[in-house]
Amino acid sequence: MSLSLVGNDVTRLTALDSEMDIETTLAWVRGITAAIYRDADYLTRLDAAIGDADHGVNMQRGFSVVRSTLNGKEFNTVGEILTKTGTALSSSVGGAAGPLYGMAFRAIGKQLTEPSVTAEQLLAALRAGLEAVQKLGAARLGDKTMIDAFGPAVEAFEAAVRGGAALSTSASAAADAAEEGMRATIPMIARKGRASYLGPRSQGHQDPGATSTALIFRALAEAVAP
Ligand code: ADP
Ligand code: MG
Repeated sequence: MSLSLVGNDVTRLTALDSEMDIETTLAWVRGITAAIYRDADYLTRLDAAIGDADHGVNMQRGFSVVRSTLNGKEFNTVGEILTKTGTALSSSVGGAAGPLYGMAFRAIGKQLTEPSVTAEQLLAALRAGLEAVQKLGAARLGDKTMIDAFGPAVEAFEAAVRGGAALSTSASAAADAAEEGMRATIPMIARKGRASYLGPRSQGHQDPGATSTALIFRALAEAVAP
């Protein structure tokens, strides 16, 4: 009896580490919300240097709406949670980042139509999210935007998944790559968004959107950690 219980627990743990279920997805969104609240002033200060000093405020407003939208609801699929997150962000975050993140989360959610998803499925969804942001915002790598964190994160996630790594290891590699991409925006000259109005004067400052994207990927890594 006890042996078979141990067996079941081991199987369950293995499944937990290779799939993202509804609980984990809710933990991801809660983790993003906590990180945005914690770093809102920092994000706003970054945006004060090369934008209009509202990125932290925008994101905090967005995730407070996400929180009240998801609170107390029951979900049948991983995608529902992420799609609702996207819709809440689109309707509440002003500026460039709201529609872009809204679109990203909706595109990710649309792909994940099951109560638990594999790393492969999450990879395809993250790629769809990245493509949606690029389609809407027309930014490329090196333009000093959230793409400079999002792109490398998806690449690193893909390389890890293809190499047979567990979901947690893959997500952790994605978070590291997002943070590296975020830091790499410092010397870049902005070519998209409000910071591009500054031209070369945007150099020497970390992009706020790349910074919030790095928070999103770190929260994913923490949510799926065993
Ligand atoms: P706004 O610039 O309208 O005030 P936010 O301050 O909330 O909006 O967000 C600014 C962030 O949005 C930038 O740091 C950048 O990462 C991102 N961003 C702006 N334009 C684009 C774009 N065309 N594609 C991708 N990301 C963009
Ligand atoms: Mg701004």
